[in-house]
Parts: sequence; structure tokens; C-alpha cells
Amino acid sequence: MTNEELWKAVLGQIELTISKANFVTWFKSTSINDNTDGVVTIGVPNGFAKEWLENKYNHYILKALKELDPQIREIRCTLSPEKAIPIATSSAKNIDAIKAPGAHPGFVRKKIIEQPSFGSTPHTTPVFHETNLNSRYTFENFIVAENNELARAACYAVSQNLGMAYNPLFIYGGVGLGKTHLLQSIGNEVIQNAPEKRIKYITSERFTTELVDAIKNQKIDKFKEYYQQMDLLIIDDVQFLSGREKTQNEFFHIFNALYQINKQIVISSDRPPKAIPTLEDRLRSRFEGGMITDISRPTLETRIAILESKLGEKGITLDPASVRFIAENASQNIRELEGALNRVVAYSEFHKIAPTLENTQKILAELIENNKKNLQTEDIFTAICNFYTVAREDLIKKGRKKEVSHPRQVMMYLLRQELGMPFSTIGELLGGRDHTTALHAFEKIDTKKDTDTRLKEELETLKETLYYAS
Ligand code: ADP
Ligand code: MG
Repeated sequence: MTNEELWKAVLGQIELTISKANFVTWFKSTSINDNTDGVVTIGVPNGFAKEWLENKYNHYILKALKELDPQIREIRCTLSPEKAIPIATSSAKNIDAIKAPGAHPGFVRKKIIEQPSFGSTPHTTPVFHETNLNSRYTFENFIVAENNELARAACYAVSQNLGMAYNPLFIYGGVGLGKTHLLQSIGNEVIQNAPEKRIKYITSERFTTELVDAIKNQKIDKFKEYYQQMDLLIIDDVQFLSGREKTQNEFFHIFNALYQINKQIVISSDRPPKAIPTLEDRLRSRFEGGMITDISRPTLETRIAILESKLGEKGITLDPASVRFIAENASQNIRELEGALNRVVAYSEFHKIAPTLENTQKILAELIENNKKNLQTEDIFTAICNFYTVAREDLIKKGRKKEVSHPRQVMMYLLRQELGMPFSTIGELLGGRDHTTALHAFEKIDTKKDTDTRLKEELETLKETLYYAS
């Protein structure tokens, strides 16, 4: 196997384990430069990628390499901007995906808008009115309920009074609860009322990618200049900025520059600023200096109201018993709710059957089965076994060998932290151990992760696998 083939195989593996955005950001333009005596040298395009591959993805890369060639025992990264093989992401299959101008071969981008490029191909006329906004998200079609009314009110106030009402505005809440919808509604509302305003909606991952490109191509000043002329900057899912020191630093400068001249900044995250572990203090305190509000999970009544409104939008009627059944069973968030509804509608249309309660129950049986099985416990088992290459039986067995005891402790930590499982259940699940064993493991990992960077990265990567791997 040539180095090129080896690296392609490794990339194929890694692409399956991390989120697409991260894959493209960190593995684009990488290659194997050397493979001698079990030491593989990976060429990376810039210092960012080096930092990330060495610290965060080291474990994954080494594991994938070892599976292909057991002789390999170490990896090193070196800067080599020229040598790179194109990576084809699976999104290339996406029909509405197009190749971005000047993008890396195989690197595709959704055809939503034309992004100004800070990359290697200079863009002659930067298009400032390109906002990234999706007009489908408006205040009008956002259903207000007790779980989101404060967030909605804050967003609306901001849209009516840029830079004056609450700045920055920070919205947090779990996945699928409507953060992106609200954030984009602000932008769409401003476009309506004041089309001359410069608005930019961007996810923190995309922001990072652009920043990395700008640094690589020595266009950082242009990058800053571009962002600093926004009247409204909306950054979605800011939790992904965590731990990226240089990105945070640049973000902080842009943030300050905008803030000082009363430009509006709106941010979303899946958790409050103080719970984003690796967020720099100064950034955190900036976020905390504005308005912070959350969106919580909707009640059954709210879920029913949302379903009815969505049905109204689609011009479809469904009997109340079916609507209630969907609302009761797709309870986690609004995305799940919409998904269940779409499934019922599509299935009954396709098979030409009436979506009666009985049919709805049948159509959603799989979803309900998954909810019952508490798939998340299983997900954690799978993630731990894959990540540490341990067998499931070994996690449950009595042994105290270090190779197994560490993964087991991390597993206990995740079961508690991510699922809120009682320590007694965790003990039982992992081979009938005492609840104090689980408690001890949790506390040990919880304390250690603050000082032990390797452990911290392990946890972050594991969580990424759990929540974001596609
Ligand atoms: P998040 O960004 O918090 O993960 P999204 O904004 O993407 O969630 O919301 C998921 C889906 O649910 C979107 O299709 C969105 O339009 C819809 N949605 C969420 N909240 C509401 C609401 N209150 N009213 C109408 N639709 C909603
Ligand atoms: Mg979102």
C-alpha cells in the first residue's frame, strides 16, 4: 500500500467517526509524507490543523493506521502546505451540493449562497448582502409557548432595535428546540424592515473554517474587515468554538470591535456560557455581559400545538388521536416531532392509507421502540468500545487491569454526565458493581479532566462521536 492509499483508507475511517464539518475543516489538504520504522509523518496545511490532529484526533488516526498496518506505533505532524490529496466527502453525492469556486477538489458546499472567499482564489466582488439566511425561518411561523417565549421576545426585541436592546444576545438550549429558527428569524425580520443593513449568519464551524483559510492565505485582515462591517452578526452553535484557542482569540477581537460600536451580536449554544468548558474566560464574561436566555423542552400541549400548526402549513388534516399519539411519542424536541409527523404523512400518502391512529402507531413503531430501548446507553457502550478498542465483556467483567479500568471509568462518567443515570444503575449495568464504585469513578474523571488535557480531549471526542457523528 502506498502512503497515498494508506491515508485515503484512514480518512475513509475517520470520516465515519467525526462530524462532517470537523472532518472537512481538519483533514482537508492532509497527507502522509513519510512512513518509516513505525513512525508516520502526516503533512498538514497549517498550525491549526497540526494542533488539532496532534491533540484531538491523534487517537483516532493512530487507531485507524494500526488497523491497516499493525507496525505503526506513532504519528507526527509536520507543516507541508503543498502536498495533499483531495478528499471526497460523502456529501458530494448530495444533489443540491455544488463545488464552491476555488474550493479544494472534492470539497463541496451547499448551494445556499455564494460565500465570499478568503481562500486561495481571490473573490473580485465580495457580496455583502449575502447573509446565509434561510427565508423559511420567520417569527411568523415560530410557535410561541412557555418554553420559548422569553427567548422569542428577546430575539424579537433585538430585531426591532439592533445593537440597542440586548447586546450580545445569547440563546441556549438543547438540540432541535428552535435556536437556529429564532436566530435566523432575527435576520429575516431585519431584512424586511431595513434591507440596507449588513447581516451575517454563520455557524461557528463555518466561521472556523473560513478563519483557518484566511490565516493560511494571509488574508486575515480582509477577514476581520469583512466581519467588522456587519450590523448584525449571528453565530450559531458557539459551543464548537470551545477549545480552539486561535479561533477564539480572533473571534474575541471581532466581537470587541463590533460591540464597541454598538453592532448587534447574537449567539446560540447548546449550553450556557459557563458550561462551555474550554471557553476562554474573557469570551465567557463578554457573553455573560449581555442577555442570556434559554429554550427548554416543550410540554405535551405545546407539542400538540406545534404539530397542528405544521399540519396547517402543509394543508393536511390528521385526526386528533393521531396528533396526540405523535406528540406523546416524539417528545424530545421539535426536530423529532417534525420528523415523526413527516414520516406519518409521507408513508400514508405513498401507501394511500388513511393516517388513522392505528396506522400512525404502526408507522411510528420503530421510533417508539428506539425510545424504549434507551438507545443512548447502547451508544455509549459502542463509543467506548470503539474508541478504546475494548470488548464489551471486559467492561462488565471484574478485572482491574488498567487498559480496561480507564475506559470503564470514562463510561461511568458519561452515563452519569450525559444520561443523568443514578450511580446504582451505572454500577449494575457495568457488572453488578457497587454504587460507590460508580460515584468514585465519576468524581475521579470529573476532577481529573480539568487538569489532564489528554483526558479532556478524550471526553470531547467521545461526546462528539455520541452526538454529532453522522
Ligand atoms: P436547534 O437550532 O435548536 O437545534 P432548530 O431551530 O433547527 O433547532 O429547530 C428544529 C426544527 O424545529 C426546525 O425545523 C424548526 O423550524 C422547528 N421549530 C423549532 N421550534 C419551533 C417553534 N417554536 N415553532 C415552529 N417550528 C419550530
Ligand atoms: Mg441549530
